[in-house]
Amino acid sequence: MAQHEQSAASFPEHIRKKRNGEQLSAGEIRDFVQGVKDKTIQESQIGAMLMAIWLQGMVAEETLALTKEMMMSGEVMSWPAEWEGLVVDKHSTGGVGDKISLVLAPALAACGCKVPMISGRGLAHTGGTLDKLESIPGFNVYQSVQQLHGILEEVGCCIVGQTDNLVPADKVMYALRDVTSTVDSLPLITGSIISKKGAESLNALVLDVKFGNAALYKDLGSAKSLAQSMVTVGNSLGIRTGAVLSRMNCPIGRCVGNTLEVMESLECLKGRGPDDILELVTSLGGLLLWMVGRAGSLEEGKKVISTTLQNGAALEKFQNMMIGQGVTSQIAASLCSTNTDYYSILRRAHYQTELETQGHGTVLDIDGMVIAQVLHRLGAGRSKAGDPVNHSVGAELLLSLGQKVEKGQPWLRVHYETPALSAEQRLSLQGALTLGPADQLLTQPLVAEIILP
Ligand code: URA
Repeated sequence: MAQHEQSAASFPEHIRKKRNGEQLSAGEIRDFVQGVKDKTIQESQIGAMLMAIWLQGMVAEETLALTKEMMMSGEVMSWPAEWEGLVVDKHSTGGVGDKISLVLAPALAACGCKVPMISGRGLAHTGGTLDKLESIPGFNVYQSVQQLHGILEEVGCCIVGQTDNLVPADKVMYALRDVTSTVDSLPLITGSIISKKGAESLNALVLDVKFGNAALYKDLGSAKSLAQSMVTVGNSLGIRTGAVLSRMNCPIGRCVGNTLEVMESLECLKGRGPDDILELVTSLGGLLLWMVGRAGSLEEGKKVISTTLQNGAALEKFQNMMIGQGVTSQIAASLCSTNTDYYSILRRAHYQTELETQGHGTVLDIDGMVIAQVLHRLGAGRSKAGDPVNHSVGAELLLSLGQKVEKGQPWLRVHYETPALSAEQRLSLQGALTLGPADQLLTQPLVAEIILP
C-alpha cells in the first residue's frame, strides 16, 4: 500500500519527464504499468502518459521495459517441458481478406509444432480471426487455460480469444489509446503486441507486418520500423522473432467476409487455395520452422508447409481443432470433406449481386480498402468493440490482377442482407477496380522483405 501511495505521488513527475523528452528508467516504467494494472493512477494520468509517449517516443530500452512490465502484469503461460522449442505463433498487423491464421495454425501443428494462437476480433476495416471462426456453428473461441492445454496436447493448435488475466494492463491501455488518439505509436504498438505474445511463452514468433493502402502503415519504410522494433523486443525477451513485410493493397485471396473466408481457408487446406495465400502461409510457416530448427532453410520450411496442405495433414488438424473447440464431429467432417456443399452448414446471405466491368483491359488494381469499407457498412465489420457482425456479409472476387477482361464481365459478387447494397456503394465498389493497358501492370512480389531474428 505504502509503495502504491509513493508511486501515485511521483506519477506527475514521471509524466513531466516523458513530456520533456527524457528517458524513463525501468523502475519508473514499472510504476506506470503497475499503477495501470492496480488502478492506483487516474485515467487522466494514464492518458497524459500515453500522449507523452506518443509525442516523444521511447528508446529501445524503454520499449523493452514497457513490454516486459506489460507482459508481467498478468498470467504468463507455462508449457510441458517436452514442448520446449516447439511452441510458436504468428501475429499479423491486419489486412483485408487476411485468413492466414486459419490455414497456418493447423499446417504448423501438422509439422509437430504447438500453436496456442491467441487472436483478436475485427475492428474498423480489418477482419478478426475470432469472428471468422465463429461463423462455424458451435465453434467456441473461449477456452480455459486447462482446455487450451488439452487441445494443444491432442491436436497441436487452437485459436482462442484473450483470457481475462492475459496482459490486463494492455486491456486498460488499449481502451484508453483508442479514445486519446494514441494508437499509432511505435513503442505502444510494440508493447501491446509483444507483451501478449510474451505471455504465451513462445519459443518462436513470426510477424506479418503489412504495408500498402489497405494496411495500417501505407509505406514500406514505416512498416519496417515497426517490424524492426517488434523483432528487437521479441528477441530480447528470448523469443526467436522474425518478420515478413508483405504488400496489402488488393484483398488476400478471393474472398472477404467472415463465412466466405472460412470457406476459402478450407479450400486452401484441401490443397486448392489461391497462390497469394499459399505464398504467405508458406513464407510465414517456413520462417517459423527454420527458426525452431525443424527446417534447414527458409526454402525447405516453405516446402514442408506446402506438403501439409497438399497431403491433407493440415486439414486433419483443422478438423480436430474444430472438434476440440466445440464443433460436432459430423459438422467438422462435413466441412472437411472433398466435395462438400459449404452452404449446407454455413449460413449464406439472403442476397447476392454481381457487379460487371464497365470497360475492357487488363486488371491493374483492386483496391482492398474500398471493398472492406463498403462491406463494413453492410455489416461485415464493427465500429466499436462489442458491436455484432453479420458473418454472411462479404464479397468474392471473380477475377485477379493481370487478367484480361471484356466489358460487362462479372467481377465481384457481393453477399448482403440488411442494410441493402445502395447505389452509392455500388459506385464506390466500381471505383475499386482499375483496368488499363497490359504494359501498365506493375507486378511486385507479395513478400517485399524478410527480417530474420
Ligand atoms: N494490435 C494490438 O494488439 N495492439 C496494438 O497496439 C495494435 C494492434
